[in-house]
Amino acid sequence: MVTRYFREAAETIDLPDHLYEVLETSYRETDVQVPVHKDDGSLAIYRGYRVQHNGARGPYKGGIRYHPAVDINEVRALASLMTWKTALLNLPFGGAKGGVNVDPSELSERELEALTRRFTQSISHILGPYRDVPAPDMNTNPQVMAWLMDAYSAKAGYTPAIVTGKPVAFGGAPGRREATGRGVVFTLEQALHREGRTLEGVDIAIQGFGNVGTWAAKTAVEKGARIVAISDIEGGVRRDDGIDVDAAIALVAAGRSVIELPDVDQLEGGEVLLTACDVLIPAALGEVITKENQDDVQAEWIVEGANNPTTPDADQALHDRGVKIIPDILANGGGVTGSYFEWTQNIQQFTWEEAIFNERLEKRMKRAVDETLDAAERWDVRPRRAAFAIAIERVAEAAHMRGYV
Ligand code: GLU
Repeated sequence: MVTRYFREAAETIDLPDHLYEVLETSYRETDVQVPVHKDDGSLAIYRGYRVQHNGARGPYKGGIRYHPAVDINEVRALASLMTWKTALLNLPFGGAKGGVNVDPSELSERELEALTRRFTQSISHILGPYRDVPAPDMNTNPQVMAWLMDAYSAKAGYTPAIVTGKPVAFGGAPGRREATGRGVVFTLEQALHREGRTLEGVDIAIQGFGNVGTWAAKTAVEKGARIVAISDIEGGVRRDDGIDVDAAIALVAAGRSVIELPDVDQLEGGEVLLTACDVLIPAALGEVITKENQDDVQAEWIVEGANNPTTPDADQALHDRGVKIIPDILANGGGVTGSYFEWTQNIQQFTWEEAIFNERLEKRMKRAVDETLDAAERWDVRPRRAAFAIAIERVAEAAHMRGYV
């Protein structure tokens, strides 16, 4: 999928032939064994990956996910997506991604800590505040980042800038946790603004009620939108008058599901994607909007909180029938932009107030929306193609100036 998006965008900017291979393939792919002693005395062996895709514009940057479906292909694709995301947001980073093929819900807290420390040790020689800086992704959180930072610092000395998305208690930036979800809404707000509209009265459906979904919901409601449908791993719910987002957050925080909310209609599995709404925010897994279900998507806008939620065939078909898509590398770029703010504060050992963090996040996200949508008009292409093209141009120029290619 990512290669397809890359190639069509590369055509838009007439990328010289010799750059295709350099920019399509990873710089380094690390694949390690992660043994963990389980609480019951048995030994479990997991597989861990860190793929560094391109570092022309700065240290490699990208999250680490814990999920049973993690494999080298997925991590490779997501690493490349990070290169284009950081370039599009104009952050001084390259792109990377990591993951372990584990279902963290089956691990105890102690096992999760052991897994994280072991994985960190195994990849620490390729990490560094000016080399590669991980962050949270699917099923990882500030606590996991704290263990990673502690494991790295045990050898290197106190190094908060080795990872972002840390707890605010030490080195985490106030605002980082909320940044991806808030950023999703800032991009939508700016896209609507360009059409002379606001979020007031806009109906939104959100697939996934984790970190991205919850903060997107909260921010959208603050700005006058209505969340008409949400889902989590257990199922989905709908309420035409708007779901009580705080009640849903409280339920999930208590380890329960949104399906337990009172006064709602229940939705089956993927129905949240197809329910009536103005805006659909996929904020869970990849490849959920496909050729098979795209015809039934009713939204006018899709804002991609997740990475890779739309397959290329569906993307084209949706565009052809007028559905407007804010692509992942733009829509969810608030996370890594927030990570940049955290990293820069760690390096300077100077903390910003949260209001300043949010102001700068909003400004950067909205600027990137304008750059992308202006370029889409100029080149007469879909916003996704424009976003990739802008990013590829920036990375190619840096690689060339540094003498790589
Ligand atoms: N995992 C997030 C993403 O996919 C954040 C990465 C980061 O902050 O480095 O963009």
